Amino acid sequence: MTFEEQLQAALEARRNENLYRKRLVVGSAQGVRVIRNEKEYLSFCSNDYLALSNEPRIINAMQNAAEQFGVGSGASHLVCGHSEEHHFLEDELAQFTGRPRALLFSSGYMANVGVISALLGRGDAVLQDKLNHASLIDGALQSGAEFLRYRHNDMQHLREKLQNCKARRKLIVVDGVFSMDGDEAQLKDICALAKAHDAWVMVDDAHGFGVHGEHGSGTVNKLGLGLDDVQIVVGTLGKAFGTYGAFVAGSETLIESLIQFARTYIYTTALPPAVAAATSASLNIVMEEEHRREQLRTLITHFRNKCAAYSIPLMPSSSPIQPIVIGDEAEALEISQRLEAKGIWLTAIRPPTVPKGTSRLRVTFSAAHSLADVNVLVEAICEAMDEIKASSKQPS
Ligand SMILES: *Cc1c(COP(=O)(O)O)cnc(C)c1O
Repeated sequence: MTFEEQLQAALEARRNENLYRKRLVVGSAQGVRVIRNEKEYLSFCSNDYLALSNEPRIINAMQNAAEQFGVGSGASHLVCGHSEEHHFLEDELAQFTGRPRALLFSSGYMANVGVISALLGRGDAVLQDKLNHASLIDGALQSGAEFLRYRHNDMQHLREKLQNCKARRKLIVVDGVFSMDGDEAQLKDICALAKAHDAWVMVDDAHGFGVHGEHGSGTVNKLGLGLDDVQIVVGTLGKAFGTYGAFVAGSETLIESLIQFARTYIYTTALPPAVAAATSASLNIVMEEEHRREQLRTLITHFRNKCAAYSIPLMPSSSPIQPIVIGDEAEALEISQRLEAKGIWLTAIRPPTVPKGTSRLRVTFSAAHSLADVNVLVEAICEAMDEIKASSKQPS
């Protein structure tokens, strides 16, 4: 087979497994109601938990900063791209996380790959939950360290791995809130194990910041875990913050090590300063506007009660990520398509994003959803499931 034919065969295989992905083109700002192909959909699949991605005060901050600083940063941070807006936001993020320092990265993916591969190499070990985000897995693979994976939230399994590990440096890496399941890591147990085995802990709290903890300060702060317990905290800015980018928070030594050695920090253009300015505005709202988190809690409780009443099984999640596991790839896809016909946008999440046979409808809530929106969603899901049952009973 030629190069071209091999690629075509791989695409064909992906289609046959019901795993083919397509992008849908959005013709409006993000929000609870979005336009696609001139049709409005009620959306339950963005990570814009606090409804800040289209917030006028943040747009205004970005416009003002663009007037002053322009649209591009011009270079990487270490050449000449590190602006006052970046520097100021880093100070604010350090305060927000209760850590001595914070460092901006251009995305969460780059932060995770950069941190793990800067801190670990051959002779070291990285221990990860099986359900960790792909960027954490890629960071571990790239680092060259021994890669040990433990079963999801299985502390006994993690303990065994640590006991058998002879590596020079040991780093336990975990999602604070698991991105496809919505449940939380058992951070207190993980930190106790880390201390007993002289390991460091890195928490990727992409889905915890803005949502969990006092003033939205995240899963690590919610549990009162300090720098002694969790040495590395990662947050992303494209989810609850509604903007773009990511940060790492920790000690002076950690941050200086990353500035010197993290290749995804060094060899890439800095975020536009206006994005940093927008994020500063967003951070104020994240901290001050408790009503957004309250609304999320109200929606989550209502959704869970309503699903229980309709016998829709849910996972044990108290986050705005409320997946409905369908299992079969084709069936998850079909429910998603039937919802689309009813004006609801809820993407089916399939392997390799989730383990095989656990394809799901990953429902996510935004503070801008109403209780009526939740009712519409649950009723439409029931209808779609009933339609599928009815059509499979018909003799063909
Ligand atoms: C989204 C996500 C990332 C990646 O962040 P980006 O800024 O989108 O690159 C990393 N980790 C987790 C757990 C995520 O959910």
